[in-house]
Amino acid sequence: MEVQTLKYPAVRNYVAGQSTPDPDPGTATLDVFSPLTGALISTVPLSSAAALDAAVQAAQAAFPEWAGTPIKERVQIFYRYKTLLERDLQALADLVREENGKTYDEARAEVEKAIELTEFACSLPQLIAGEVLEVSKGVEARAERKPLGVVASIAPFNFPNMVPHWTIPNALVLGNTMVLKPSEQVPLSAVKIAELLQEAGLPPGVLNIVNGGREVVEAICDHPGIQAVSFVGSTKIAKVVYVRATSNLKRCVALGGAKNHLLVLPDAHPDMTASNVAASMSGCAGQRCMAGSTMVGVGAVDHIVAKLVEEARKIVPGQNLGSVISREARERIEQHITEAEAAGAKILLDGRNAVVPGHEHGYYVGPTVIDHVRPDMRIAQEEVFGPVLAILRTNTLDEALALENASRYGNAAAVFTQSGSHARYVMDHASAGMIGVNIGVPVPREPFSFGGWNESKFGACDITGKSSIEFWTQLKKTTVKWNPESRVNWMS
Ligand code: NAD
Repeated sequence: MEVQTLKYPAVRNYVAGQSTPDPDPGTATLDVFSPLTGALISTVPLSSAAALDAAVQAAQAAFPEWAGTPIKERVQIFYRYKTLLERDLQALADLVREENGKTYDEARAEVEKAIELTEFACSLPQLIAGEVLEVSKGVEARAERKPLGVVASIAPFNFPNMVPHWTIPNALVLGNTMVLKPSEQVPLSAVKIAELLQEAGLPPGVLNIVNGGREVVEAICDHPGIQAVSFVGSTKIAKVVYVRATSNLKRCVALGGAKNHLLVLPDAHPDMTASNVAASMSGCAGQRCMAGSTMVGVGAVDHIVAKLVEEARKIVPGQNLGSVISREARERIEQHITEAEAAGAKILLDGRNAVVPGHEHGYYVGPTVIDHVRPDMRIAQEEVFGPVLAILRTNTLDEALALENASRYGNAAAVFTQSGSHARYVMDHASAGMIGVNIGVPVPREPFSFGGWNESKFGACDITGKSSIEFWTQLKKTTVKWNPESRVNWMS
């Protein structure tokens, strides 16, 4: 039998500072394909609960020394790590592009965001200084933030480098040790992250990586040695993880899917709105939880829709539009378009059957704009996760807000208008955690935190920024009293 040489070595778990040996013969592996070309580039093990247990044990062994290291020392590793990310930015971006299918610019932007997240973690010593107060005569109360212990982070496919950075720097700087479970569809970036952290001086066992799918995730939710679980992925799995982890008495934040509404008013700036909406729906091939996948046109906005289609036409698969993640994803997205058409919506720009010359086996969908979508259609309700914009029409802003409010999701919403009072009204009444005014992808940059509402997030805290401090730490409150009479006169 011909042995195929893969572009990247078979992915291994990373435990106690080392790549683990070949998985046990019983461990299944999954092929990893580059969605740009459809080529097989690596394999990833579908690890067992036993492999997870080994990683948890390594993280438990590393915890006392790591938690006992002053935060001012822990953070030095992340200052060094940031410079290593900057040094290797292009190589890291190339890897993201290859395993995820992004354009060069999108892949670079993802790694730049990872650098910003690391930069924020470096500021944590300034942010978590404790509190102290004399609460009664001679009695002092103090509150300090302490790490939780071993924590876990479960990632999706759409940001192989950035999403692990939502959790790793903050959780680790705050004194926890971690098991990371990358998406089995994009396991390569995490290997590089571990290598660079090791180069920066992270002690063995502080970060461990266990690859796999459902079995490892369930084992994470059940493992008694794990104190907290963060999850990013679809709403369906976020619910399962949240219920299972919290029923095992762990804290959990589980970010889910999205259906972000962009409300376009007739007074919106036509050029700015058209280019923003087109970029929001098509960036990262629509595979962003912040993608504006639903536009609600209020009143007379035909002139903006026409410009939007013009803008979207300039987005070309294989040039300034990357691939979607898999053949199955492409089929699902095309099915959504076909169903909407059959249900009576009007396709203004059709991205089905896109072919990129030279990359005929890649998974591409062209930008797609569908007008006159009705709220009862599947495409108006479900997350499509492709470069597809569904346009709904209403006569009033209140009707548009009612559509936005009716969505089960609530990650982001945006309004395009030149009227301050209309913008304010949407800011107050949209049911979403992240709001944009004339911004199609309103990601709150550090130190603000990232997190949606409704079925886009389960759990009390956000996953990044200041809010994540609460998630990754617990407060220790100490009350201190010394007997003032017990002073000794050392001189007598
Ligand atoms: P997914 O839910 O399929 O997978 C996410 C993680 O869950 C992966 O690590 C996967 O291995 C694991 N998993 C998959 N099936 C499982 C099962 N049955 N039981 C236990 N674990 C399982 O999500 P995805 O397709 O990788 O990512 C895309 C989704 O993530 C989209 O819905 C997107 O909106 C969402 N997302 C949300 C945010 C956010 O901030 N809200 C950010 C990024 C992505």
